[in-house]
Amino acid sequence: MLKKAVFPGSFNPFHLGHLDILRRAARVFEQVIVAVYENPSKPLLFTVEERIELVRETVKDAQISNVQVASFRGLTVDYLKSVEAYVMIRGLRVFSDFEFEFRMALANQRLAPEIEIVNFMTGEQYIHISSTTVREIASLGGDVSSMVPPNVEAALRRRFADKTSLSTDM
Ligand code: ADP
Repeated sequence: MLKKAVFPGSFNPFHLGHLDILRRAARVFEQVIVAVYENPSKPLLFTVEERIELVRETVKDAQISNVQVASFRGLTVDYLKSVEAYVMIRGLRVFSDFEFEFRMALANQRLAPEIEIVNFMTGEQYIHISSTTVREIASLGGDVSSMVPPNVEAALRRRFADKTSLSTDM
C-alpha cells in the first residue's frame, strides 16, 4: 500500500462514477482524502457543507474505512501540500476526459513538480455519468437511482421539490 492521496472535485453532487474511483483509490492508498472544492465564486446546487455531508454518508454506507472528507479553497496543489499529500487522484471516463485531464496535470506539474497525478479508469457501467447529467435529469423529475447513491437521490428529490425553478447548470 502507498501513502496518502487526495481525490479533489466539485462533487455537485457525488455520484456512482466518483464512488467507483474512490473505491479503486482506497484499495491502493493507505489514506484517501476526498477534497470538496468550495468554489466561492459560483453558487452550486448543493452548498459545500451539503456536498461534504453527502460524500460522508456515501462513504459510511459503502463501508470504506480509510477515507476522510474535507473541503478546500484555492489551488488544489496548495491544499495537497497543506495536508502533506503528494498524490492527486483523478478519474477518467471517456476519451474526451483525457485531453482535459492531461492539460490540467501538466499545469499542476508546473505548479508543484513534487505532486504526482494518478488517474484511475472507471468501470464501463459508469462512463456516461456526470454531475451535470445527474442534475439535469433530476431537475426534470427523471430517475437517477442507477447513477447516484440512495442518499444523494433523496437529497436531489428534496432539492428539486423545494426549488423547481433552479437552473440546471448550477
Ligand atoms: P471537477 O469539478 O474537478 O471537474 P468533478 O466533481 O466533476 O470534478 O469530478 C471529480 C473527478 O471525478 C474528476 O477527475 C472527474 O474526471 C472524475 N469523474 C467524474 N465523473 C466520473 C465518472 N463517471 N467516472 C469516473 N470518474 C469520474
